[in-house]
Amino acid sequence: MQNLKLTAAHPDGARTVVEVNGVRLGEEFVVIAGPCSVESEDQTMRTAEAVKKAGASMLRGGAFKPRTSPYAFQGLGLKGLKILEKAKRATGLPIVTEVVDTRDVSWVGEYADVLQIGARNMQNFSLLREAGKSGKPILLKRGMHSTLEEWLNCAEYILAEGDGKVILCERGIRTFETYTRNTLDLSMIPAVRAESHLPIFVDPSHGTGILSMIAPMSLAAVAAGADGLEIEVHYDPSTALSDKDQQLTPDAFSVLMDRIRRLRAFMAEMAATSPSEAALTAFPGRSIAGSHAPFSDAVD
Ligand code: PEP
Ligand code: MN
Repeated sequence: MQNLKLTAAHPDGARTVVEVNGVRLGEEFVVIAGPCSVESEDQTMRTAEAVKKAGASMLRGGAFKPRTSPYAFQGLGLKGLKILEKAKRATGLPIVTEVVDTRDVSWVGEYADVLQIGARNMQNFSLLREAGKSGKPILLKRGMHSTLEEWLNCAEYILAEGDGKVILCERGIRTFETYTRNTLDLSMIPAVRAESHLPIFVDPSHGTGILSMIAPMSLAAVAAGADGLEIEVHYDPSTALSDKDQQLTPDAFSVLMDRIRRLRAFMAEMAATSPSEAALTAFPGRSIAGSHAPFSDAVD
């Protein structure tokens, strides 16, 4: 890929580690969990305690919600950020929360440990630049109509502003399939690992929108080499003000976390006793990284 000065894979394969309050994204496997929206202090505290107990390393929760309808719940704004701050104090979990407006980046950054830029804003270039200037770690969701090259160029906008740090998050794309909310493109995990040094996370909640698919897609993402997951959990999903159909209960999340731990233990054993990854792609005269030209339409 051309023009990727700061996001392209390093020739020696070194990968970036983003340190957030002692959590090392890109090195340790990290699960970010919490409600779609911050709705109240009670809801956020109960959910935060539950995800912490199940083994999440970071708390998510939206105070500014990018909603399809202007009449739908838009988030609690500053009040929501203050609730997140309380939940952080109670649990020790660093906060991941979305910023949707360029004018809000600096003050939202006073509450957030990681600023999330959502799928709908992935190519909001002024927001990307402002986020880059904040120096905060940025979780950059993949735009729902975006190619890998467009996505990495957006990370480039952030990094070009200075010493910012970016974590990429695959969250599904729009395809002709309407059975699922989005088509979760897990092939982006090895693709990002081949083309970039940035950590790659997966959000199976928005990626599928279907409760019964969260666990299988989470496990598939782990198996494919994701650096972490972002999962929506609500202490009582039936009462949620947004995305009620895709949020896991604390009990379901806890079972999933146990399965993730077991799968990771199996993968560690496999890595130690099986030939290396390179043996899987050995192919005379061909390497995986940078090995193919775009398959179809040119990019502008
Ligand atoms: C979210 O994570 O709260 C969210 C709105 O996700 P996305 O931007 O991927 O739709
Ligand atoms: Mn949501």
